[in-house]
Amino acid sequence: MELRLGVALAVVWPDAAALGNAAERRAGRRVGIFGGTFDPIHGGHLAVASAAAEELDLDAVYFVPAGDPYLRRPPVASIGDRIAMVELAIAGDDRFLLSTVDAERPGPTYSVDTVEDVRTAAGTNAALYLIVGADAALQLARWREPDKLAAATTIVVVGRPDQLSPTDLPAGHPARDATFVNMPQLDVSGTVIRDALANGRPITGMVPPEVERYIHSKGLYSPRSTYREER
Ligand code: ATP
Repeated sequence: MELRLGVALAVVWPDAAALGNAAERRAGRRVGIFGGTFDPIHGGHLAVASAAAEELDLDAVYFVPAGDPYLRRPPVASIGDRIAMVELAIAGDDRFLLSTVDAERPGPTYSVDTVEDVRTAAGTNAALYLIVGADAALQLARWREPDKLAAATTIVVVGRPDQLSPTDLPAGHPARDATFVNMPQLDVSGTVIRDALANGRPITGMVPPEVERYIHSKGLYSPRSTYREER
């Protein structure tokens, strides 16, 4: 740990701003990339990232909030609020870092671009692990340039074995050769949280307390909040 911090302090790379303040490069560094809408970030996301980091001995996991997510409806909260919530949620784990590469790139967010941008910043020596939930893994064939994505990273599918296993996928599916990481099901999602808030129900325990405070202080997802992303 000290060693990693030492390197982080000693080396400042040009893309550090986009990747966060610990964007050190070192040979053989194992870097997870976890993209999502994070609308809002919740306990399920943190559990996925922790399971992948522990199982695969990752040095870092970049949480990458999507600017304009591909293949799904626009987020409810602004990119600024989603980034702020990610920062609050990951502050307690020094393996977890924020990357704003997708927020800064105009146009729809494609994971193939995310990986390229993280590769540029993390360095060619880094081994990249693209972390996806089982539901997202099922959709992988519909993503842009899935074969390029599979060639550039190790795809890591996190979920319960009965949710998805390699044999559930047809030959040639980009997640067929993925690394599968087992994690107990956590019945939490952005949809459940937004729905609870819209109906005045509590979300305690679904998101870190700092995120819960942020949501309430800004009135996010409440019936009174009129904010919508501009398309
Ligand atoms: P929404 O309900 O708004 O669709 P979400 O909670 O599924 O959102 P996203 O930010 O879209 O969150 O998801 C990012 C990634 O996290 C995806 O790969 C998704 O599969 C995974 N994920 C989200 N919630 C869970 C959970 N409870 N358990 C495992 N994986 C999850």
